[in-house]
Parts: sequence; structure tokens; C-alpha cells
Amino acid sequence: MANIKITRTQNSRIGTVDWNNLGFGVYFSDHMFIAEYKNNQWNEGEIMPYGPLPMEPGLCTLHYGQSIFEGLKAFRNVSGGMNIFRPDMNAKRLNHSGSRVCIPAYDIKNNIEAIIELVKVDRDWIPQQRGHSLYIRPVIFGSSNFLGVHSSSEYLLIIMTSPVASYYPEGLNPVKIMVASEYVRAVRGGLGSAKTAANYAASLLASAKAKEQGYAQVLWLDAVTRNFVDEVGAMNIMFVIDNELITPPLVQGTILAGVTRDTVLTLAREWGMKVSERALEIAEVFEANEKGKLQEIFGTGTAAIISPVGQLAYKDKNIIINESKIGPIAQKMYDTITGIQYGEIEDKHGWNIHVDL
Ligand SMILES: *Cc1c(COP(=O)(O)O)cnc(C)c1O
Repeated sequence: MANIKITRTQNSRIGTVDWNNLGFGVYFSDHMFIAEYKNNQWNEGEIMPYGPLPMEPGLCTLHYGQSIFEGLKAFRNVSGGMNIFRPDMNAKRLNHSGSRVCIPAYDIKNNIEAIIELVKVDRDWIPQQRGHSLYIRPVIFGSSNFLGVHSSSEYLLIIMTSPVASYYPEGLNPVKIMVASEYVRAVRGGLGSAKTAANYAASLLASAKAKEQGYAQVLWLDAVTRNFVDEVGAMNIMFVIDNELITPPLVQGTILAGVTRDTVLTLAREWGMKVSERALEIAEVFEANEKGKLQEIFGTGTAAIISPVGQLAYKDKNIIINESKIGPIAQKMYDTITGIQYGEIEDKHGWNIHVDL
């Protein structure tokens, strides 16, 4: 797909953006990439103005949720151009997610190329401010119209972008997390390892209840025994206990293989930390805290990069972690990863795709 067809908007909306109050996923850039799957193949795809799609009430995805998505970011490089962070990982994961819900794979090279061309077209939408970035959201969904339960024969891949603020205008604020004791999200053999709409539908009620009680997010336990830690709503979770960095393993298929998770584990191993991807009982976390060995808890995900946990509540227990301040490991991770993303720190792993603008 060397030359993607591009139709440019005649009415840019960029003048309506309040760059000092971007929020997250509120503004959509002028253009989108759209490709269609029909007769067992993906078409070339094209870039066109972002806008509404025609839709019938019988759209199968509305009824049966055959939908997957991704989330990645482009950053302005301090010495010019921009960096897209690890888009190969997201392109691969999109296909992994698709394989679980019968959505046909999309070529990885074409995926990355489409993102590069789209971001070039909307280059003015990449925020200038350090900490801000252009969030890139690919989504694929069944686009046929029918009511029988089977997978769609047609699909749309749409890639849209959104200028987003830093999650932390005043530094990295630790969040309050509630461990889910009533609800579960993903079970072994289920959809947990796929980035699919259904996982989010499953999480909304518990999140809303936690918010009512003043908690930012929910920490999910494994759905079978409800003893082991899985992950947070849209973040993987890491614990530093007795100088060991611990995160739940991917083998059960109940959690998402986060790109940030992989980035953090890679860096921690290089720094010589003891790193364990292992099952962790929620009881072990509270025991470690009682013994004074629980040093840090933080979430990892593209949106916030690193999100320190300052308080953790579970049933009748409620603990404060590291005096509700960001810990040294979370801080070093955040500084290193964002440093690489903005081109301030050498990118030894080749994680960035650099694009001249
Ligand atoms: C997207 C997501 C994450 C974070 O993955 P990153 O690739 O690091 O952004 C973690 N958990 C769930 C359930 C997710 O959907």
C-alpha cells in the first residue's frame, strides 16, 4: 500500500481545540483511516475526513459486540519530528485480539504504514507541550447487518487520533484503588487476553460503584478462586515487595499483555532488579504491608504510562502505600519511558518509529 488515497477536509476543526484543557479522548483530529474487509479480503484503505458513518439498526456489532481496539501514542520529538512508540506491538496484539473473537487479521506492515500516513496528515494535531501526545485508536468491528448469532462477514478497520493531555498536570498523583470482591471481569478461557469491547462492558458497573466510594479504579482478582491479583481496569499492575518487582503472569489468558508492562519489565531487568512474573495472592500483598515490605504499587498502561497506587482497599482492609507518594521505582520508570518517547533519552531498544514532519 505504497500510496494511500488521501481526501483532505475542507473544514479543519483544529481552531476549536482548547489546548490547555485537552482531557483524554475528547477531541478527534480532522482525519481517519478506514479499510474495509469484504469477500474475504481487506481493501487498500484510505484516509478521509473524520466523521459519522452510515449505520443500520441491524449492525451485528451493536448486538453481539464483535469489536476489538488498540491504543498507542505519537510524541513530538524534542529534536524534531515525532516518535510513535512501539506500534509493531499494537499491530500484533490487534491480530491476537481478533483471533479470539473471529475477526480477520490485518497486515502488520499496512497497519503501521496507515498510522504513519494518518499522523503525517494530522501533524498539526500532535500537541506541543511536554507530557501531551497524540493518542492513536485503531478499532475493528463487524459491519454486516443480521440478527443470527455468527461472526460478521464484513468488517471495518478505522484508525482515529485524539490529542491528549498528560494524565498528571501536577506530577504523578497516586490513585486510590479498590479490589473487586463482588464482581469478576475475565475468566480462564474467556476474553481477558483480548482488547475487546466486551471486557470493558463487564467492568463498568464495578468501576462505577468504586467511583461512588471515592476510588479511581478497580483491581480485578482471578475469577475462579478470587485469591490472585489480575489487573486494573485498563492497566496492568506491578508490586515492589522486598525489592522484588512482581506482576501477574500472562499464562492464564485472563489479563492483557500490555506494551507498557513489557517495557517496564524489560527496563527493570536491565537495571538488575529481581523481576518475577508470577501468581500473586491478594493476601500476600496485605501481609507484606504488615511486615513493612510492601514498597510500591503502580499501574502500567499507554494512557497514563505509570500510575502509582497510594491507597488499596479490600473488604475491611484499607492500606496506604509509601505514604501515598510516588515511589522511586515508579518515578524512574516514568522518567525513563517518557524520556525515550520524547527523544530525550537514547532509544537503545529501537522502540520508537521516528517520523520526520
Ligand atoms: C490496554 C489495556 C492495558 C494496557 O496495555 P498497554 O499496551 O500498556 O496500553 C491493560 N489492561 C487492559 C485490560 C487493557 O485494555
